Amino acid sequence: MRWDEFSEWGKRISEWTQHYHQTVGQHPVRARTEPGEVLNALPAKAPEQGEPIEGIFRDFERVVMPGITHWQHPRFFAYFNSNASAPSVLAEFLASAIAPQCMLWQTSPAATEMETRMMDWLRQALDLPEGFAGVIQDSASSATLAAVLTMREKALNWQGNRQGLFGQTPLRVYCSSEVHTSVDRAIWVAGIGQDNLVRVPIKGDWRGMDPAALEAAIRADLDAGLHPAGVILCVGGTGTGATDPVDECLEVAQKYGLYTHVDAAWAGSAMICPEYRHYWPGVDQADSIVFNPHKWLGVQFDCCAHFLKNPDDLVQTLAISPEYLKTHGQDGIINYSEWSVPLGRRFRALKLWFVIRAYGLEGLRARLRNHVNWSRDLHDRLAAEPDFRIVTPPMWSLWTFRYEPADAAGLDDLNLRLVNAINDDGRIYLTQTRVDGDMVIRFQAGQFETTEDDVRMAFDVITQIARTLPTPPQE
Ligand code: PLP
Repeated sequence: MRWDEFSEWGKRISEWTQHYHQTVGQHPVRARTEPGEVLNALPAKAPEQGEPIEGIFRDFERVVMPGITHWQHPRFFAYFNSNASAPSVLAEFLASAIAPQCMLWQTSPAATEMETRMMDWLRQALDLPEGFAGVIQDSASSATLAAVLTMREKALNWQGNRQGLFGQTPLRVYCSSEVHTSVDRAIWVAGIGQDNLVRVPIKGDWRGMDPAALEAAIRADLDAGLHPAGVILCVGGTGTGATDPVDECLEVAQKYGLYTHVDAAWAGSAMICPEYRHYWPGVDQADSIVFNPHKWLGVQFDCCAHFLKNPDDLVQTLAISPEYLKTHGQDGIINYSEWSVPLGRRFRALKLWFVIRAYGLEGLRARLRNHVNWSRDLHDRLAAEPDFRIVTPPMWSLWTFRYEPADAAGLDDLNLRLVNAINDDGRIYLTQTRVDGDMVIRFQAGQFETTEDDVRMAFDVITQIARTLPTPPQE
């Protein structure tokens, strides 16, 4: 393809994009292809000769689109959303057009300085104090890994990277049972070992870590000659929105000099609304905080905001500068690749700039508030149905329920069949999780184009389908 053909295709694809977003609600949310169908539709060998874009685009529509689950569907109530708002898509288009690799300030000063400014806009939007510095990571998993490596290095007086962990007193990291598996992975990758990730019991409706149990666990480890290194807190956990009592847990961690990381990957976006900040009181005492604008702030994947009270700790952990990466004579500038595990970096700040300017913080807050309120209305309606039980209460826009018709047996199986039947139906998309061993169904709202009617439709779909499922009687 030649560049002089580009604008024609650019126009066609941009019209296609607008049409797709405006009509995506007419499709079943979850892809209906069978395993292997797309693979088998793709030739086993690459073409030797180039092909016109016309045919490639035709195949994109024919082969690819049927195998897409529509994450931008207004009735996508599964997992957490991954919004691609219109200004974000435009910004990504531009970022991919200029395609800079932004590892160092000098490899694109605009990208670095835009990132500094955007992260400070977000810091202020979250009402974090001045002094917190931000970096955009590719994912919350990467940010959590960076935080775990930092807590490891601090605990080992910066000798872990050099000497490894062999022969060291085992390091201990504390979290609740509700944290995301990215925490487990970070612990594995950091060499700390799964057995040294201490699961502190939870309590209360928020399913948050018990601070007294946290302190008891730390003390027991100290008595046993182990080496406490850090605490990872959860604000808006994946399954049920579990949220630790942030201030009390941070106080315990600080008492023992432990590094702290707060994973608010999903719920952090909501903290641009002052009324939700009571969910993380005292968060300004944390060392590291992560949230994903790519989940709930309309900035498409990937865009993860990582705030650090003292970025020097992170840089001391991760920075490495062979001669080819040195920027002689440019002291005092930020090279963000020293703040993250990958070296290469995309120009992610551009889409934040577009989105925040296009909606304004008030526009973003309005969307989040709608999601929370509509989700609570749906919760209230389902709670009034005698054959449904609310299992965990609304945390922002997320809550869980279970279908429990009188005299039915095998409720785990029944609820799994229900969620599968709902997703096969295609009008809405939900996912399941387990709460205290029971299979439950999750509901969360967070798609940018969702309307109140979309959320209301979920009530009809859930109740209609549930009541037509065969329910085995109790023996
Ligand atoms: N933490 C929480 C609470 C999550 O819900 C998720 C993903 O849904 C993650 C971390 C991982 O996010 P990422 O995909 O950005 O690594």
